[in-house]
Amino acid sequence: MKEFGLISRYFQQVAYERTDTLVGIGDDGAVTRVPAGQVLVTTTDTMVAGRHFLAATPADALAHKAIAVNLSDLAAMGAQPAWLNLSLSIPSFDEHWLQQFSTAFHELTKFYQVQLIGGDTVQGPLAITITAQGFVPEDAFLTRKTAKSGDWILVTGELGSAGGGLMKLQQGSGFDTSCHLIARHLYPEPQVLAGTCARRLASSAIDISDGLLQDLQHILNASSVGAHLDLDKLPIRPELIEWFGDEKKARLFSLTSGDDYQLLMTVSEEQRTQLESHLKSYDIPFVVIGKCTGALGKIDSVLNGKKFALNDLPSFGYQHFAD
Ligand code: ADP
Ligand code: MG
Repeated sequence: MKEFGLISRYFQQVAYERTDTLVGIGDDGAVTRVPAGQVLVTTTDTMVAGRHFLAATPADALAHKAIAVNLSDLAAMGAQPAWLNLSLSIPSFDEHWLQQFSTAFHELTKFYQVQLIGGDTVQGPLAITITAQGFVPEDAFLTRKTAKSGDWILVTGELGSAGGGLMKLQQGSGFDTSCHLIARHLYPEPQVLAGTCARRLASSAIDISDGLLQDLQHILNASSVGAHLDLDKLPIRPELIEWFGDEKKARLFSLTSGDDYQLLMTVSEEQRTQLESHLKSYDIPFVVIGKCTGALGKIDSVLNGKKFALNDLPSFGYQHFAD
């Protein structure tokens, strides 16, 4: 099958059509309308086999993750997702794979009410690139740059689960989605609702893709603030503690493990109550894990109520295997 046949068989029949899409798949470009008073937010992420996902990952999980990581970036900007472009590099025409991938892809577009409006299809090593676009009122987008010393630090959902799931897969667990950690690794849930809730309330936001510490550091650097973290507050699951057999190990792991796709936000003392009640009204789980400080770019922490030096962390994830 040639490129055109493939596109029309698997991608042209989109599952979700938006009235603000004037031209979708099938022309040289898509034409879309951004509501008056709103601005367009655009983000791109590429996932390469063997580098961003295990080669054996089921096609439906890849479709899910490729969309989720992009919507997670939109969420961190406070944007409402609207459109996707899909650039697909596939080694061969594998009907079963394409069927599974496209079915999951279209299903998720319906769930998030986003329309696939274009893309590219080439033969090559397996790689999936998505460009996602969404919009937000022009005075309400969130960035990493505007946290202030004294602001509270919040995180949604749970940390470390996806990283724990990856460890399990690497150690030979099958793709068993009844295991909570593996499910969190394969099917991350972008915090779209939390992102729109945080508009005009949070002072800054970022999504956690590379681990809490690393992504918090981006906010600190961009905002010229420091942070104090209470590691006893980190939202970790009993399954993660059980996997490590040790709560402290699980807590420290959740600081640096990736792929959680939760939102990390800062909020001023004045706006905190309103942001919290807004999140609660949508049943979005979150916890306050610390506070911004004036110590530029520095993070200090307490664990079990005692000062804890984060410098000792780096190789932690590997120490587990060395045990
Ligand atoms: P062009 O040669 O003008 O770049 P293509 O032949 O690559 O166009 O694609 C034809 C149409 O199909 C375009 O509208 C393009 O956006 C769309 N398209 C191509 N690949 C995909 C894909 N994987 N998913 C969605 N749309 C796609
Ligand atoms: Mg092309």
